[in-house]
Amino acid sequence: MPLDPPIYLDYHATTPVDPRVHEAMMPWLTSSVGNPASTHLHGLRAAAAVDAARSSVASLVGDPAPSRVVLLGSATEACNLAIRGTVDAALPRSRSHVVLTSIEHSAVAKTCAWLRERGCGVTVVGVDSRGIVSVADVMRAIESSTVLVCVMAANNEIGTVQPVAEVCDAVATINRRRRVPVRVFSDAVQALGRVPPPPSDLVSVSGHKIYAPQGVGALVIRGDVRLAPQTVGGTQEGGLRAGTVATPMAVALGAAADLMVAEGDEEAQRVGSLRDALCERLLSGLGDDMVINGAWGGPDHAALRLPGNLNVSLPGVCPLSLGDLVRSHVSVSGGAACRSGAAETSPVIKAIGGLDATRAATVRFGLGRFTTLDEVEKVAALFIAAARRLRGIGCST
Ligand code: PLP
Repeated sequence: MPLDPPIYLDYHATTPVDPRVHEAMMPWLTSSVGNPASTHLHGLRAAAAVDAARSSVASLVGDPAPSRVVLLGSATEACNLAIRGTVDAALPRSRSHVVLTSIEHSAVAKTCAWLRERGCGVTVVGVDSRGIVSVADVMRAIESSTVLVCVMAANNEIGTVQPVAEVCDAVATINRRRRVPVRVFSDAVQALGRVPPPPSDLVSVSGHKIYAPQGVGALVIRGDVRLAPQTVGGTQEGGLRAGTVATPMAVALGAAADLMVAEGDEEAQRVGSLRDALCERLLSGLGDDMVINGAWGGPDHAALRLPGNLNVSLPGVCPLSLGDLVRSHVSVSGGAACRSGAAETSPVIKAIGGLDATRAATVRFGLGRFTTLDEVEKVAALFIAAARRLRGIGCST
């Protein structure tokens, strides 16, 4: 049954631009002009639009008056600025130490690995089989030289929500006794607008996960955190990120943040119900032939998982064959990367002790603002049929 056009269920990878966001940014691509750093009227108007966008991002992060909202080209840039910026502003790299969880996005994990190669101490803290880090484990990993703890707000593959508020409280307690404070950075790209925002010192934001275009992000800085800039040149963004601020992108980010603040709770309910419906349908068709990855069920069900996320493994199904079979009907992501024709298990699935890519296909379903029940039903039927057809056949490559 071809589903034409293919159904899009990959909202963790990127979200469509909301037409209202598009409408808000359009004048800044066409009729309105101005460099926000210029002091003439056009420049001042652009600066006002950019500052309004900053306030909207601050509201989305749950802090009407953060020290600074640095506008950037992506959340990856925000992660780099938060991590490398904190380390470079604190002790010499060789005497600094950073803690991160084992399920961070590569924007965080690889930045920390980059620092490790340059002499910085790095400790990776594992997660439990539900994909949630323990606050006690994080605190045990902190050393006298620790300057930063990175705990993502919600995971991009299995959607698990991390206990960031508890980590922040525990870190605040030990900071009272420390000369060099430990800062908490949360990559909140997937969480914002869907679950409560993290109260961390540093929070990353990505436009294209909240229905703004690709190519815009922000780092929200709270309190007296000191950062060393990672892009030098002009004095934009308080000297923290040289380069002309992209006014249309900033306006889009602000409009997307406003919509999330106004509609996020209701949307989370609706999307969560659709995600639960998808899971129920898949379970009724596949039963024990499907394993749900990450925290699922129980009284904390809604609090422990992003509403639009469902991640499942299908034992005995070859990931590559499944991809070939469903690709023209539905866009989803696998928990495995394909390298040289063989599937590789994702680090997140490994971190929770999930089924590896030689034994199961792993699928991440990402639902969002424009997903419908009809789409969910079609996708469930497609995957049930595909899994039944492929089980036990093995990979042809
Ligand atoms: N962090 C997480 C959790 C993500 O899911 C992503 C994107 O997939 C990023 C960071 C990077 O965001 P960007 O594409 O804006 O650089």
